[in-house]
Amino acid sequence: MKAKLSMKEVFDYIDSNKNRAIELLSKLVSQPSVAATGQGIKECSELVMKLLDELGANPKLNDIGEGSPVVSGEIKSKRNPEKTILFYNHYDVQPPEPLELWDSPPFTPAIRDGKMYGRGVSDDKGELTGRVKLTEAFLKTWKDVPCNFKFLFEGEEEIGSIHLSQYLKKYPEIFKADGVVWEFGGVDPNGRPQVVLGVKGILYVQLTTNVAKKDVHSSLGAIVQNPAWRLVGALNTLKSGEKILIPGWYDDVRKFTKQELELIRQAPYDAKAIKADLGIRNFIAKMSIEEAKRALVGKPTCTICGIYSGYTGPGSKTVLPSEAFAKVDFRLVPDQDPDDLVRKLRKYLVTQGYSDVKITYSEGERAKRTSPKEPIAIAAKFAAEQVYKTASIVQVSSAGTGPMYLFNAPCVAIGGGHAFSNAHAPNENKQLEYLVKGMKWVASTVNRFAEMRIS
Ligand SMILES: [Zn+2]
Repeated sequence: MKAKLSMKEVFDYIDSNKNRAIELLSKLVSQPSVAATGQGIKECSELVMKLLDELGANPKLNDIGEGSPVVSGEIKSKRNPEKTILFYNHYDVQPPEPLELWDSPPFTPAIRDGKMYGRGVSDDKGELTGRVKLTEAFLKTWKDVPCNFKFLFEGEEEIGSIHLSQYLKKYPEIFKADGVVWEFGGVDPNGRPQVVLGVKGILYVQLTTNVAKKDVHSSLGAIVQNPAWRLVGALNTLKSGEKILIPGWYDDVRKFTKQELELIRQAPYDAKAIKADLGIRNFIAKMSIEEAKRALVGKPTCTICGIYSGYTGPGSKTVLPSEAFAKVDFRLVPDQDPDDLVRKLRKYLVTQGYSDVKITYSEGERAKRTSPKEPIAIAAKFAAEQVYKTASIVQVSSAGTGPMYLFNAPCVAIGGGHAFSNAHAPNENKQLEYLVKGMKWVASTVNRFAEMRIS
């Protein structure tokens, strides 16, 4: 083993090259890359390839013949070639609409009050920039990386990583590592670092009812079935209060461990601020703060995300629509399987007399959680305290979803994110102070992880 190198040199490099990191972020945000429409995806994948090439990461453009390419790369460690960390990020962004609500154009990055504004600046180009630049910091100061670094940058995260499982089948080696640093992470509203250890899964379906072959005069409501009523009836069978009624829905739900319950209890949650921000008086079913904290991590949900039929414009139009649609998402927890659940949903609607309701399965991802006892989790907690000089908060799982289940290795979600970054919304922003701190946190985590033994 070579002499131990210190993180101080790496941190100093990150500090003195802050402006170069900001420039890179600005360049990435200036390149649109909207997965939903395909706008700029190809150009952005090339830009990311170039970045990894300049870093010496021997990039590859992995292609399965459809969707956005996955860019991967690797840097071998001289000092510790036995261990590998993987950085998972995405170069695609959400659509910028509604454009009129932006204070500056979404693809023209602007800095105001220590924040950069632009689509993707936080989710996920800020994190991607951080991973590239912290690697550069190691290479420039240590002439090495603490263990092997792998990069996997996908271009469809914002549309449910719809092809990533196919990439796993075709290119399994680019997913292999001993630990994964996830695409998002950061500090809570009070600036405390959060180590997030998991994500929920999802089953996303569209339900469609179709009766007549065309819209008809609503006077025919006397004799023609209304698809909107059919759809509402079908939706109404899915839940009673907060319970999902589909038989077997909860069969595979994994119970919380004692340690998970304790971590959930310890995690602060500013219910008052969150209620004020949302403009709500109570949480659903008047749940207590502790119940809400457990629900965010461990409650399977059924949400009508959108419902549409007939005429919804101004004034009245007496029409009996021919079709009705609802988009429904079910958030899942370990060990629920979306493929199994969509079958259960189909069967259930048939038994309830709704065999005419068409189900289109548009997204399915399993949940994943990493144990807080894993070395990568311990390393992230240690490094958070080193960089932020304050105790970190361990989150058993995010309430959100991502393709974490496709990676076999333990994962931690840490980085330079902050609350109120308006991710997915107009005026998305990145607090530049956290771009730097996030880089140091991830760099220090990786270094600590590299030094630890994997049991
Ligand atoms: Zn996102």
